[in-house]
Amino acid sequence: MPSEFEVIARYFTVPPVDGADDGVMLGVGDDCTLLSPSPGKRLAVSVDTSVAGVHFPPDAPALAIGHRALAVSLSDLAAMGARPRWCLMSLTLESAEDDWLAKFSQGFLGLCERTGTTLVGGDTTRGRTAIGVTVMGEVDPRAALTRGGAGPGELLAVTGSLGGGAGGLALWQRGERDLDHPLLARYLLPQPRLSAGQALLGLATAAIDISDGLLADLGHLCQRSGVGAELYPHGWPLAAGLGDALGEEGAFQAALSGGDDYELLISLAPRHLVEARKRLASLGVELTVIGELTRETGIRGVASVTHGGWQHFEGAGEPGPGNKDRMP
Ligand code: ADP
Ligand code: MG
Repeated sequence: MPSEFEVIARYFTVPPVDGADDGVMLGVGDDCTLLSPSPGKRLAVSVDTSVAGVHFPPDAPALAIGHRALAVSLSDLAAMGARPRWCLMSLTLESAEDDWLAKFSQGFLGLCERTGTTLVGGDTTRGRTAIGVTVMGEVDPRAALTRGGAGPGELLAVTGSLGGGAGGLALWQRGERDLDHPLLARYLLPQPRLSAGQALLGLATAAIDISDGLLADLGHLCQRSGVGAELYPHGWPLAAGLGDALGEEGAFQAALSGGDDYELLISLAPRHLVEARKRLASLGVELTVIGELTRETGIRGVASVTHGGWQHFEGAGEPGPGNKDRMP
């Protein structure tokens, strides 16, 4: 079994690319990393911890665990409209197995490479498997998307599709193991909406990533913005195959309350909708309007697909079964 230092050297020390402008003055290997942020930009910094058996199944493929641990943190940068630059990893493992570590670092560093994120340091310890990932990104100081900028009369819209995270978790629990299954991929290999978040700068007035379920995260956005929301009865962008996997009612519940979707929920003025859709379409991302923001607080008017009627939700919804902090 490799030692701590062998693990770091073998799996988490990425040689700098010659001539690459990665802003890293000193990377993995010293007491601290030394970074050089771009002049005039704000640093956006966030950390998320993924614990085995809580946030992901302990027997999930190592590649997916590595990918996912970074993806959930990058999703927070996406929700601010920030461009990712660097990350730190706090890795706790019960044992150091070469095969597992090779796949894990492939998942983690592969996503680093595809998103322009450089791993610049971390910590490696023994214990119950958990991965804490700190991400650092850059954003224009005047343009960062926060949860607090939404106003009454604006539209509420989501990128991509909903419910896929909870659908994938349900399939995993039923024994599905094919990572090519679109729902399982949504759950185990989420793709943070980084380009979409940056494309929405100047158009969206507020944004949050849907990690705890749409209703819960909408509740956060509304609370920070001091507004309420009226949700539309129809036209929700359910993830493909969700109805087949969970049934109609289950699919709608997954879309409303399931966790792990990592889409962006945004508010924007109606006059900016066409431009926002155009920018996202060029990235292959759909934007669906699912409601409007109101002066009156609280979330109202959630429809049930099967009943076709209106259900009343008081305030922010309860986290659903797919919630990332409640994995059975
Ligand atoms: P220290 O004793 O100062 O805490 P460590 O021995 O923990 O240093 O780490 C040695 C170097 O390896 C540091 O530069 C640290 O940032 C880096 N490092 C440790 N674990 C990881 C990891 N999982 N991923 C990336 N870098 C790591
Ligand atoms: Mg250390």
